[in-house]
Amino acid sequence: MLEKIVDFKKYSSIKVGGIKKLKIAQTIDEALNLSKTHTLIGKASNTLISPNAKNLFCLGSEFDYIKENDNFIEVGAKSSAKKVFLYFKKQNLKGVEFLGSIPGSIGGIIKMNAGMKEYEIKDSIIAININGKWIESNDINFSYRHSNIDGIIIAVRFKKEKGFRFELETLFKDMRKNQPKNPSLGSCFKNPKEISAGKLLDISNLKGFKIGGMAFSQKHANFLVNLDNGTFDDAIKLINFAQNTVYNKYKIKLETEIIIIKGE
Ligand SMILES: Cc1cc2nc3c(=O)[nH]c(=O)nc-3n(C[C@H](O)[C@H](O)[C@H](O)COP(=O)(O)OP(=O)(O)OC[C@H]3O[C@@H](n4cnc5c(N)ncnc54)[C@H](O)[C@@H]3O)c2cc1C
Repeated sequence: MLEKIVDFKKYSSIKVGGIKKLKIAQTIDEALNLSKTHTLIGKASNTLISPNAKNLFCLGSEFDYIKENDNFIEVGAKSSAKKVFLYFKKQNLKGVEFLGSIPGSIGGIIKMNAGMKEYEIKDSIIAININGKWIESNDINFSYRHSNIDGIIIAVRFKKEKGFRFELETLFKDMRKNQPKNPSLGSCFKNPKEISAGKLLDISNLKGFKIGGMAFSQKHANFLVNLDNGTFDDAIKLINFAQNTVYNKYKIKLETEIIIIKGE
C-alpha cells in the first residue's frame, strides 16, 4: 500500500496540523480495509486536523477521473471540484456552477452536501457509488451541509443536462469577493433555523474576536481564519468560546459545519 508524508500545515486549507503519514488507497478493497482503522480525508478544506491526529488515509489517483456516458457524467471521488466545474463548463452542462467557487474533492463535496445559496450538490446527481455499490441519490438522506452517507464515496453520477449557467458562475464568484482571503475552512458553524451563524456571532461581539493566531474574520464572522500561525488549540478554544457565549446570550446551540479530527 502506498503512503506519503504530508505536512498538513500546507495540505489543509486552514493551514493547521502536523507532519504525518497519509496512507493512500489505490483500490476499493484497500479503501474498505483502511476505513476500519483510519479516517478518510479529501482535500481537508472542511476539516480541522489536530497535530496529534493519527491514522489518516486518502484515495489515490485511480479515483480521479471523469467519464462521459449517454445519460450521465461519472466522476471519481478524488476529482477536484474545480476539475468537474471546468469540465461541465467546457461541455456546456448545467448543475454544478457553484463548484467553481468551492474547494474540495467530489467525495467531500457529496459527503457534506456542499452548496451555495439554495443550490446544493444533491440536486445535480443521480447515483453514488458507496463502498463499491451504486445507490440512487433519492435513497440518500441529504440535508443542509449534511448527508447520512456512512461509507466511502467511490464515484458519483451527475445528471447530464445542457446549458451551463454563466450568470450563476458570476453570482458565486461575486459572493466570494465579500469573503476573507485568509486560510479558513469556509463557514465554521451551520446556520441555525432562527438566524444566520454569522449574524449571531456578530451580535455576540465575536466578529474579529481572536485567540492566538485564529480569529472570527472581520469580513465575515462565521469564517474562522488563520491570521498568523494559528494552531489547532487556538481554533478549538475559539469554537468553544463562541458556542458558550452564543448559548449564554441567546440560548441557541451553534453546531460546527466543519469536521474536527482530534488526536488520541
Ligand atoms: C474558502 C472556503 C470556502 C468554502 N465555501 C463553501 C461554500 O460556499 N459551501 C460549502 O458547502 N462549503 C464550503 N467550503 C467547505 C468545503 O469546500 C466543502 O465542505 C467541501 O465539500 C470539502 O471537501 P474536501 O474534499 O476538502 O473534504 P474534507 O474536508 O477532506 O472532508 C470533509 C468530510 O468528508 C469526508 N469525505 C471526504 N472524502 C470522502 C469520500 N470519498 N467518501 C466519504 N467521505 C468523504 C471526510 O471524511 C470528512 O468527514 C468552503 C471551504 C473553504 C476553505
